[in-house]
Amino acid sequence: MNKLKTVFLLIVVGLGVLFYTLKTEVNDLEINFFAIGQGDAILIRTPEGQNILIDGGPDNLLLYHLGETLPWWERTIDYLVITHYHADHYLGFPELLKKYRVKNILVTAHQPDDFLYSIWQQALVENNLKPSIVLAGEKFVVSDDLSWQVLLADYNHEDFNENSLVLRLTYGNTNFLFAGDLPISGEQKLLSLGFDLSSQVLKVGHHGSKYSSGSDFLSAVDPDICVIQSGQDNKFGHPHQEALVRLAQANCLIFDTQNGDSIKLISDGQNIDVY
Ligand SMILES: [Zn+2]
Ligand SMILES: [Zn+2]
Repeated sequence: MNKLKTVFLLIVVGLGVLFYTLKTEVNDLEINFFAIGQGDAILIRTPEGQNILIDGGPDNLLLYHLGETLPWWERTIDYLVITHYHADHYLGFPELLKKYRVKNILVTAHQPDDFLYSIWQQALVENNLKPSIVLAGEKFVVSDDLSWQVLLADYNHEDFNENSLVLRLTYGNTNFLFAGDLPISGEQKLLSLGFDLSSQVLKVGHHGSKYSSGSDFLSAVDPDICVIQSGQDNKFGHPHQEALVRLAQANCLIFDTQNGDSIKLISDGQNIDVY
């Protein structure tokens, strides 16, 4: 009888803990910029419980970060976005497909003719998945407060970076711009399209390269927080001094994953906190 009581008590306590974790899980918008080395990998968790993954970094470090960030029962990625087909943005994905249920994969119409892309195509076939091609202007509405829009989805440039998908996410009065590896020429095109680019947070283009983050673009975005994802001692010398100077002139606080710490932003729709 005593044993039965103990088991019963353990179940009650267990359910209590589970309920508490589930309950505290629902909250604000959370954006995680993973310290993934040289590359991009960004996990957005919406208050509705959706998981949006923008890029997957160069390797399986992505799975480590997801394991650390998501609750243990969460194995679903609602949207997986590949900004462009450079290794540092999507080589973490083939392994991800084996471990997580991915509902939607969003890409540009760019179809490179290289070995990495063939690996990715094989991973898609093995997991029975088919990406959806998105176009500039396409909007995804999650709730009255939360939506995100594709601002640029070019696919026919020789430079893969110029084919970067650019996204802007809005939650309440807070906006976030994700620039992929877009170079200044792409920024100019984006400016000519007339979208509202203003955003408190800018995921800085191309790991802080001097060939991105032009002054015109930064004036239009007018960010308060600039996040750079770059690897320690990377061979490209990212972030470049020239870009850092322009970002500083734009008066944004610069955060970099280079020291090995991921950056977490939390928005309640009015204010954004950095962790
Ligand atoms: Zn890159
Ligand atoms: Zn790139």
